[in-house]
Amino acid sequence: MKFYDSQYVKKICEITRASYQHGWDERNGGNISLRLNEEDLKDYSDIIEVKKTFNLGFDASQLAEKYFLITGTGRYFRNVILQPSLDLGLIRISADGKKGELRWGFEDGGKPTSEFPSHLMSHIARLAVDSKQRVVMHCHPTNVIALSFTQDLNERHWSRLLWKMQAESLVVFPEGVGIIPYMTPGTNEIGIATAKKMQDFRVVIWPHHGIFGVGSSLDETFGLIETVEKAALIYSQIGAQGGQIKQEITDEQLRKLGEAFDVQPNSKFLTNY
Ligand SMILES: [Zn+2]
Repeated sequence: MKFYDSQYVKKICEITRASYQHGWDERNGGNISLRLNEEDLKDYSDIIEVKKTFNLGFDASQLAEKYFLITGTGRYFRNVILQPSLDLGLIRISADGKKGELRWGFEDGGKPTSEFPSHLMSHIARLAVDSKQRVVMHCHPTNVIALSFTQDLNERHWSRLLWKMQAESLVVFPEGVGIIPYMTPGTNEIGIATAKKMQDFRVVIWPHHGIFGVGSSLDETFGLIETVEKAALIYSQIGAQGGQIKQEITDEQLRKLGEAFDVQPNSKFLTNY
């Protein structure tokens, strides 16, 4: 079987197009990676040969011999569905964790996203928490970015605000959201800061830029980001309606949501802590 026809390529095509259609990936904004292991890839005969190797620039030995299907640098989410074998690459991390080996894709000479180190560092952090999580997605949701200009960059404040915009929020991200300071994208420093937050959160806000989300599947990760952005959109709409809140979801109601859906809300972000 050809890897081009795999469910993994198909699903990344679908998710990148949906993310673009939501307005989260203008031009070459956004990147996504899916971790795969040898077992997931046993049916594909065209991923054996190493087509190219490159230095990772940091020690990824915790991900040695794992595979990542990832979007390319400078590529447009809008186009991935039209030319997946140009805009996507399947990279195997070498046994010493220092190099990436291109096994499939990037057929016109492309390279992985400049955020590849950030993705790998986040994968390492999340693997330590939950070995089933294998997707990292970065994009630019409009209302989340807008919030980073109007709100204090405080995790408790943001988590409470987003939880209280809709009943769904606390159920989908009971741990709340993490926030890093504004930093230059594409650097190891932003990757390290993001991965550190990923020890506690599946969503990390990059102020004035976008969001990093992780999950066990492409659908779940997309849905997580979609839920955070929906809460931010509701806040924007409240502003458009005059901004005056007449009633809200109380902390007691948040607690009851946690009980009803069997999730543990981050107690640091509820009152009476
Ligand atoms: Zn970005």
